[in-house]
Amino acid sequence: MKWSYPLFRAFGIDVRAHSSFLIFLGFIALSTAITEGLGSAIFASFLVCSVFGFVVLHELGHSATALHFGIPVKDITLLPMGGLARRGALPQEPWQEFLIAAAGPAVNFCFAVLFLVLVTPAGLIGFYSSFSLAPAQFPCYLLAINVGLLLFNLVPAFPMDGGRILRALLAVRMGYLRSTRIATRIGKVLCFFFFLYGLFNGNFVLCLIAIFVYFGASMELYAVESGAASRAQGGQSSSTQQQPAWWSQFPSEGPPHAPQPGYPHQASEESLPSRDLQDRFEELKAQGENVTAVYANGRIVAVIRQVD
Ligand SMILES: [Zn+2]
Repeated sequence: MKWSYPLFRAFGIDVRAHSSFLIFLGFIALSTAITEGLGSAIFASFLVCSVFGFVVLHELGHSATALHFGIPVKDITLLPMGGLARRGALPQEPWQEFLIAAAGPAVNFCFAVLFLVLVTPAGLIGFYSSFSLAPAQFPCYLLAINVGLLLFNLVPAFPMDGGRILRALLAVRMGYLRSTRIATRIGKVLCFFFFLYGLFNGNFVLCLIAIFVYFGASMELYAVESGAASRAQGGQSSSTQQQPAWWSQFPSEGPPHAPQPGYPHQASEESLPSRDLQDRFEELKAQGENVTAVYANGRIVAVIRQVD
């Protein structure tokens, strides 16, 4: 990513900090130093660095799981809104997406348990009464950061982790595109309520996150729909390079050309008007393929091809 600087490498993945993150960190430190003094500025910088340190570990949890499934991870970049991992491919099965999405929050869960063990009664009392740099309070801050990251990421607002977990669970029953549409819809409704809550409570960071997640969901849905449309037109998208063992065709619930693919790699489904389907069926049959047409109300609604 442009304007980003390397920090370190882990599992062969470059971890980078975007210049906007460094500006954000500098802004927090400087504004706290001016208003509340140097001690508070150091403390605020410590908190911000701790949060982003655990964000990196969270992202490495996702990335290590993705690598385990053979999905390449190019880099992880720290932005003011969180970490962004660039992956070279999509998970091939819903359960792989489930595990990759769950691995990030699982890292925070493990750290939360660890710091829960380290928390002392004195630290806990101090944590609730006043913010300070007292060493006894450190585990409390780190516990709070991990519990916060865990709960925040598990909100089922696609494309956040909770939303990806939801899509993976839905995809087991209803395919990739339909589950993405449902997860996106749920995510957008949640974003709407987060935005309103943030607006009426003066929490503008929450408003920004809601906008960020809302547009993230729109972009992902667009990418999934474009990939599905490309498959429907016989194109090869990066997610369909592996020849599926079978494909089938279902009538679309949406607009005439809206496709309903299965999970990428696992099953490529297309959506074409009935007339085109008939043509495709004849074409495959003429090629000697083992195909079966499914009819409903006298119209062809599906073509199933058996591949050995
Ligand atoms: Zn995550």
